[in-house]
Amino acid sequence: MLEGKTAVVTGSTSGIGLATAEVLAEQGINLVMHGLMSDEEGNALVQSFAEKYRIKAIFDGANLMDSEAIATFMKRAINEMGSIDILVNNAGIQHTERVETFPIAKWDAIMSINLSSAFHTIQQALPDMQKNGWGRIINIASVHGLVASVNKSAYCAAKHGIIGLTKVVAMENAELGITANAICPGFVDTPLITEQIQQMADRDGIDFATAKRQLVIQKQSLPDMMEPRQIGEYVLFLCSSTARMITGASLTMDGGWTAQ
Ligand code: NAD
Repeated sequence: MLEGKTAVVTGSTSGIGLATAEVLAEQGINLVMHGLMSDEEGNALVQSFAEKYRIKAIFDGANLMDSEAIATFMKRAINEMGSIDILVNNAGIQHTERVETFPIAKWDAIMSINLSSAFHTIQQALPDMQKNGWGRIINIASVHGLVASVNKSAYCAAKHGIIGLTKVVAMENAELGITANAICPGFVDTPLITEQIQQMADRDGIDFATAKRQLVIQKQSLPDMMEPRQIGEYVLFLCSSTARMITGASLTMDGGWTAQ
């Protein structure tokens, strides 16, 4: 059912986005891959996907801090791929620091990349989805869209914000065959959290592996980090016909983090 559809996955050069792109490609879904990577590396990446999965795939390196660059990126994606059926707003960054010393430039960057970019991509993708009567918008939020942690003011504000945006988009498009949902992962094993683990290791004088486990069990009932591919499979489920009635939802995969 999904074969031949086209997905844009922002931030698909690494971590959750890359794994999600792979899960979708396995279903024969054409891809617009995106992220901070040189055109040379990005083009080599999409070429390897195109050959392995026999799909059409293009790469774009638009900086999501720039709203005009996002519009250009999305227009190019629509022109070259026909239309966008599935939009996964995944790209994101993190910075951890108390509010009183949190750098303003970091606040602005996190709000732009983790929140505003999703508004811009959704705005560009919706008209075709509405015309086609089918669309899937999946925003990779976080447990930090539902609960807070110290030192994560910008991240929590952006992730709470993207859940609000998801609900509005879901309601505005409910009768048009378009669903919009947010996935809220706990700890996922990607480069995004390497710095946090290293900070904990340095602060407590412990090795990286021990710090990694400590970080997880502080918050989750399950002591393991999620694998990026598990989030990709959650995305695929939300694209399936079984998930047709799921919209406006914030769906956790958090090892029990928010059960407490
Ligand atoms: P990652 O660091 O592995 O990948 C981030 C991606 O975003 C990369 O492709 C990078 O190029 C892209 N990106 C960053 N800044 C960009 C910019 N200015 N312009 C364009 N692209 C940019 O991170 P990840 O862990 O895979 O995170 C993906 C999403 O999942 C993020 O939204 C993150 O908040 C969310 N998330 C991650 C975790 C976790 O534990 N790793 C938990 C919950 C939610």
